[in-house]
Amino acid sequence: MTIIDPQAPILVTGASGYVAGWLIKDLLAAGHTVHGTVRDPDKTSSVAHLRQMDQTAPGTLKLFQADLLQEGSFAEAMAGCQVVMHTASPFILTGITDPQEQLVRPALLGTENVLETANQTDSVRRVVLTSSVVATVGDAMDLRESGKNAITEDDWNTTSNAEHQPYAYSKTVAERRAWEMVNNQDRWDLVTINPGAVFGPSLAPGSKSASIDLLVQLGDGRAKMGVPALELGIVDVRDVAQAHIQAAFRPEAKGRYLTCNTSLTLMQMANILRGRYAGDYPFPTRTLPKPLVWLAAPMAGLTRDYVSRNVGFDLRFDNTRSKEDLGLGYYPAEQTLVEHFEQLAADHRV
Ligand code: NAP
Repeated sequence: MTIIDPQAPILVTGASGYVAGWLIKDLLAAGHTVHGTVRDPDKTSSVAHLRQMDQTAPGTLKLFQADLLQEGSFAEAMAGCQVVMHTASPFILTGITDPQEQLVRPALLGTENVLETANQTDSVRRVVLTSSVVATVGDAMDLRESGKNAITEDDWNTTSNAEHQPYAYSKTVAERRAWEMVNNQDRWDLVTINPGAVFGPSLAPGSKSASIDLLVQLGDGRAKMGVPALELGIVDVRDVAQAHIQAAFRPEAKGRYLTCNTSLTLMQMANILRGRYAGDYPFPTRTLPKPLVWLAAPMAGLTRDYVSRNVGFDLRFDNTRSKEDLGLGYYPAEQTLVEHFEQLAADHRV
């Protein structure tokens, strides 16, 4: 059992990110000292919201410069920390020209760097790694082929590679490496949070998180001709933040946690938003036939292989462990989507 001293500082890598914004807010609200790392602490658009939180919350935030690709970069920020929350990792789904350099290398090397520094930092007792559901399943068709009703923490993504589903591949190899590294020592333990697609209001105006852009696309007219029959596991960003915190401080937390509220198709997501906003936005009104999606895939930045293996298949995740061990209650999906969309509308992004 790992007992964490709540007075010790907590490292959050990728502090400028969408998920990290809520994580740091909740940690500061609970009075913790947070060491946040960013690539550029002087970039106002990435850190202004964090500095603002630091001024108003009971806890204390110190920002440090660190880059996933630089060996030893996290040492100064990790000094004295018992908990390391490693959220930093590139999350891009479009505009990928060099998957190895844009995704796989920073995800894998970054995890190795952070965990190697944990090995060298005597105070560290627990690492909470932000993985993803995509480390448990690559394509929706994999679930059908498994014969199971839902993906569980026992599952691993075995079908992604640097060319097919490179983001999923980057998360898979990074998480696998973390499980290898934890077994080579016995001072710190590892808990992974494996969230579905994250939605909900963002505190991080500088974030380019791909999940935010997906919601923008549903409301800005780009999807008005229709959407493919794609199903996503979805979760509220505030639940993901709580999952990390519970995973850090509950002594019995152990292993992987699928952190996913429910599954919705793109059309179901659009219907929820249309129900709320009626004719105010050009939400899609129909599901496109799979053969059409397959034909048009390259123009939409998708591969035909991706369409063949994902469109029209159910995708379900079993979140029992996250409820039982971490006590997650989960925001209703409708609230998550509506509150997020309200913010996008207020910011004129849709
Ligand atoms: P995000 O807002 O884009 O945050 C990603 C963070 O990673 C940013 O803070 C970014 O820092 C940092 N980063 C990227 N490359 C880096 C590098 N070379 N060195 C140092 N930092 C680097 O995305 P997010 O949605 O919050 O994602 C956070 C984590 O959750 C990621 O591990 C992601 O894979 C995981 N996740 C996200 C979702 C989702 O739907 N959003 C779902 C499952 C898992 P800069 O500001 O310096 O760029």
